[in-house]
Amino acid sequence: MCRSQRWHGMMVVSFILSVVAGFFYPLALGAPSKTLIRDAALILTMDPTVGTGELGVIENADILLDGDTIAEVGKNLQGNDAQVVDATGKIVMPGFVDVHNHLWQSLIRGCGTDKDLIGWLETCTFPLANPDITPTETEVYAGVRLSTLDLITTGITTTVEWSPAFTREFVRGNIRALSDSGLRFVFAHFGTADPAIIADMKLVKQTLIDPNPRATFQVASHPSEAFRPDLSAMSKLAKELGVKLHVHLLENIAQRDDHTFDVLKEANALGPDLLGAHGLHLTDKEIDILAEHDVRILHNPLSNMRLASGVIRLPELKQAGVQVGLGIDGGTNDTSDMFNTMRVAVGLQRAKSLQAGIFPTVADVLRMATVDGAELLDMFDRIGSLTPGKKADVIIVNPGDVNFAPRFEWVSQIVFNGQPVNVEWVFIDGRPLKRKGELVGVDVEAIVEAAQKAATRIRQGLLQ
Ligand SMILES: [Zn+2]
Repeated sequence: MCRSQRWHGMMVVSFILSVVAGFFYPLALGAPSKTLIRDAALILTMDPTVGTGELGVIENADILLDGDTIAEVGKNLQGNDAQVVDATGKIVMPGFVDVHNHLWQSLIRGCGTDKDLIGWLETCTFPLANPDITPTETEVYAGVRLSTLDLITTGITTTVEWSPAFTREFVRGNIRALSDSGLRFVFAHFGTADPAIIADMKLVKQTLIDPNPRATFQVASHPSEAFRPDLSAMSKLAKELGVKLHVHLLENIAQRDDHTFDVLKEANALGPDLLGAHGLHLTDKEIDILAEHDVRILHNPLSNMRLASGVIRLPELKQAGVQVGLGIDGGTNDTSDMFNTMRVAVGLQRAKSLQAGIFPTVADVLRMATVDGAELLDMFDRIGSLTPGKKADVIIVNPGDVNFAPRFEWVSQIVFNGQPVNVEWVFIDGRPLKRKGELVGVDVEAIVEAAQKAATRIRQGLLQ
């Protein structure tokens, strides 16, 4: 069976499964074919075995995408039957890996901008548990769909959605929007010890996540005294399902009173399958515990600044050997700009330490936004670098725009000058989701309109 037949077979199976599961597979995006990205001025493969140096750099070369896979990276590649994308003068690199997000929060963009985390939660999200205000399935779909476009625009090809489960419908609307987007995604489903909720989480994984080749499931919880029994139940469930447990870890200084590490230890949660978002207010001893158990940290610097949460101890985490990736963290930072996220991750450490050479350097932060994120999600075999055999998640950046040109030191300019507008092409599984600067196959106006309608109703509810 040739590749196209195999793909066709997969699409048929996916379609049948999606009908059974009740969610829509993005058939409209079409089956992938061969694409030759030709004459790129600079390719950052992020793989030292493919190119030069730690970022695996190759100049004046091509990349051949075959279906959903990177077939070859090198000079003068032949792709007789391939669609050719002229990358003359452009930079090609892997799509960004966003390790922590809440896409539905685009519905509350601009809410509580004078509040810290606790104030923001109390003003903008906790009231949504009131059934009169909770986003409906249609509304959460609208918000998540909007955010997926925002992510694709900035060159993110994999995202991790930490989702509350206000209702069953909320979860389904969220996953449907992620599935329709064409993004590679991880769905971290919040749950409690309630057997009915656990049963539904298993159903969600089995019917909505597992049939989708671009989707992965995680279990989400919260490590505090108030959630002690729930965290234990979720830790147990994550182990039973063989998936990661994803929590918010010491984001606000007040959470020092939550006995976080005692609760995590009691729940038997410490280990390489624990993902901790933020990890801001860690003691030296706690950093050692994270390193000892290979717990991974998800750094969201824009959110940390907006919510007056603090500055992560990145150099100390690096020194201890803790793996760290970069995240956007939802509506709290009001932007999905991964370039801005990289800049701020570098800048915060320099501002705090008064040392320009402090971790992370430009190369470090580029790794955090790509390979390191893939590694900590245990998805390194599939994504994070332009290594032949990996999934064809690739972006093309135009360094000729007024905010980026002229060429002086392009690798540094990606971090210090890059903006989403410079991302011209975004391929996920070999399919272009952004083409010559335009989003592909979506009615952007209709999606913005639907999000506006949802946000207007939710805002009215919050103001009552
Ligand atoms: Zn978060």
